[in-house]
Amino acid sequence: MSSHQNSAAAEKPPILWLNLSVFAITFLVAAIGVPWYGFTHGFSTGLIVGLIATIGFAGISITAGYHRLWAHRTYDAHWSLRILFALGGALAVQNSALHWSSDHREHHKHVDDNDKDPYSAKRGFWYSHIGWMLREYQASRYTNYDNVKDIQKDPIVMWQHRNYLTLTLLTTFGWPVALGLMLGDVWGAIILVGFARLVINHHTTFFINSLAHIWGKQTYTDRNTARDNGVLAFLTFGEGYHNYHHIFSADYRNGIRWWQFDPTKWLIRACSWVGLTRNLKRTNGYQVEKARLEMQFKKATAKAEVSCETTMAKLHDEFDVMVAKLREYYQVRKQLLDIKTKALVDSVHVPTLAELQAKADAMREVFVAHKREFHQLLQRTIQGNMQGTQSV
Ligand SMILES: [Zn+2]
Ligand SMILES: [Zn+2]
Repeated sequence: MSSHQNSAAAEKPPILWLNLSVFAITFLVAAIGVPWYGFTHGFSTGLIVGLIATIGFAGISITAGYHRLWAHRTYDAHWSLRILFALGGALAVQNSALHWSSDHREHHKHVDDNDKDPYSAKRGFWYSHIGWMLREYQASRYTNYDNVKDIQKDPIVMWQHRNYLTLTLLTTFGWPVALGLMLGDVWGAIILVGFARLVINHHTTFFINSLAHIWGKQTYTDRNTARDNGVLAFLTFGEGYHNYHHIFSADYRNGIRWWQFDPTKWLIRACSWVGLTRNLKRTNGYQVEKARLEMQFKKATAKAEVSCETTMAKLHDEFDVMVAKLREYYQVRKQLLDIKTKALVDSVHVPTLAELQAKADAMREVFVAHKREFHQLLQRTIQGNMQGTQSV
């Protein structure tokens, strides 16, 4: 046991009874109330639709609002959208956007540091999932919001922060009661859309701090515990591509491939078409591809335990050539995109367009050929290395 664990076990901070009560009561009411009410009264289709819509609204207010808008400033949003996110965030009962963003910026800055990361995954599943909110762990760490000075300029953030408790009570009780009155089943709505919905919203978001740091692939970096996981992306409105997110946190996307499930990204993009969101930030494709190739290289050589220095030097040289070709391809691609935008804005025909397109296609082929050659070389080295190891 480490000295840190020893001291933590010796003097655990006091329990936060309010947090513990909220989590325990909502969980118990949902776990007992839903099956009991379902068997004795049944839930109408309207209530089930209400449940799904409310999970979606509160969940996406956290992912698109709290997380990608306020904590990371990956895009700008119209005030109407910000008000919706502020209300949805209160409905999700995860503290104010200001407090949430402050914690989250600490998480990114000190990821996996057991003393500084508020929900360090290295302290285990339970701690990173919910344990960090059950005791007064934060009391000694910080008492101000210095790391979120920028979003303090947003009057909607400050309005929500000042009125957080009122907004939370109004939305979490007011909405299920209003829905119940509309559908003629107030108790059914309170149990399903009030309690069960909150438990689902809580734990799906908490999975991002716990499971998304434990289960999945390290596609782009192994410098922290964050993982990419398609199953978690499905449960967390696209936040499961957490390995990508930790290395490129200024990007409004988490799932960058078209087939990756990231409804938060789709919403932010769709809103940009009607002017509700602006300045969507994306990471340069070259940086993304380079990080991915570096990880593949690292994993392959670590698995085969390539110990020969000459072989490693050769592999590194070939890797550098491949990355140089990748950079050339992305440079031409950027020129092409710039000129395409110019042609669109000026409504004039740009004669160099076709020429550049052909050049970009050729550069891509060169890169792909180098990539193929590099992978073959890597494969041959690994096989040779393994045979060598086996014969020893
Ligand atoms: Zn983040
Ligand atoms: Zn994380």
